[in-house]
Amino acid sequence: MVKKITMSIKANNPKLTSWIEVEKDSDFPIQNLPFGIFSKENKSPRVGVAIGNQILDLKELFKLGYLDSLDFSLTDFDNNYLNSMMLHGKHSTRELRNTISDLLSSENQTLKNNTHHIADVLHSQHDCTMHLPVKIGDYTDFYSSEQHAYNVGCMFRDPNNALLPNWKHIPVGYHGRSSSIIISGTPVYRPKGQQKPDENNPPVFGPCKLFDFELEMGFITYQGKSLGDHITTDEADEYIFGMCLFNDLSARDIQKWEYVPLGPFLAKNFASSMSAWIVTLDALEPFRIPGPKQEPKILPYLEYNGDKHLDINLEVILKTEQGIEKTVSNSNFKYMYWNMNQQLAHHSINGCNINCGDLLASGTISGPEEGSYGSMLEISWKGTKPVDMPDGTQRKFINDNDTIILKGYSKKNGTRIGFGEVSTKILPSK
Ligand code: MN
Repeated sequence: MVKKITMSIKANNPKLTSWIEVEKDSDFPIQNLPFGIFSKENKSPRVGVAIGNQILDLKELFKLGYLDSLDFSLTDFDNNYLNSMMLHGKHSTRELRNTISDLLSSENQTLKNNTHHIADVLHSQHDCTMHLPVKIGDYTDFYSSEQHAYNVGCMFRDPNNALLPNWKHIPVGYHGRSSSIIISGTPVYRPKGQQKPDENNPPVFGPCKLFDFELEMGFITYQGKSLGDHITTDEADEYIFGMCLFNDLSARDIQKWEYVPLGPFLAKNFASSMSAWIVTLDALEPFRIPGPKQEPKILPYLEYNGDKHLDINLEVILKTEQGIEKTVSNSNFKYMYWNMNQQLAHHSINGCNINCGDLLASGTISGPEEGSYGSMLEISWKGTKPVDMPDGTQRKFINDNDTIILKGYSKKNGTRIGFGEVSTKILPSK
């Protein structure tokens, strides 16, 4: 049993304001302080924290002595990835976020008054390039939204038995590929592969014709336990660093032909994209809500105490090559059947070791109504209900040169915690 961290999350105080200007409805008020990796001009990538439309440079902040009271070293921030910082564990990163919050708070004049330091430690996001924030060791994708599993079951099997018999007993998942996880803004070439459009004819080869997104969120882990041990649902919070938006790009026609009997392979591993800022689980604590009643009764190792679901509004926007946008889905992370604690407990119950920088994704998040579905497969119902775009064109799936944008935020009592976006343009096949 790991020791629960009792340090208060002072950084979440809704009354805090910053001496840095933060626009109303910014994704990054002082209560958020998400972590990412950025570079500016020809300087090396380093750890940064988003505040308003600026980035606080933790490498420079450390060098100037502002983080001396903490147990971090320069390489934790002068780094291409967040992993070194995350290896210090939740106690230390919470203390770090509290310290940063103090430095940026209107109440605190220390950094604000050292005007000769400001230009070194604060950069406009506009002038910076964001990089993949985490060296992702292992990537797992779950299938934890009931409406999504139901919709897919209806389309491809039987509406009366849409969920497979294991679905309400096991947080179903598969191991994906981490090498092709890309940062928001990276374009993706339409994949080529085998498809079998005609049941009575042999398979064909060519560019995917049914290109899709999957609206997901992912969470990044701290160092877990040794091989053979497991993480309980009660302990799981201590092992989750933070969350991002995640687009599990999917080639439906390739998937349909290849997935039997072992699951997704080349239909998924050509690319998956994630947002640049990792919003800490600490910052999301105020947005916890109860989950759905789980019937039939689940096995004891999957039971959990307290509110482990999160209220996070999600949106999917399709943008044409000409820049015409349409929102095709409004969903919410609260529609998950299995929460992150259950996913982590299930993932490790067999003794599988979770490492610092693993990414566990939710699976497509679909809400109960049309308009809240998390993939074109569901939105266009296998292509039978095309989406009308504002420019008069239609979409059943994603066209070449379309851009898919996922956004997300939580809001409560005037505090808005945003995730930024993950934007992915689809280029014609190479
Ligand atoms: Mn997926």
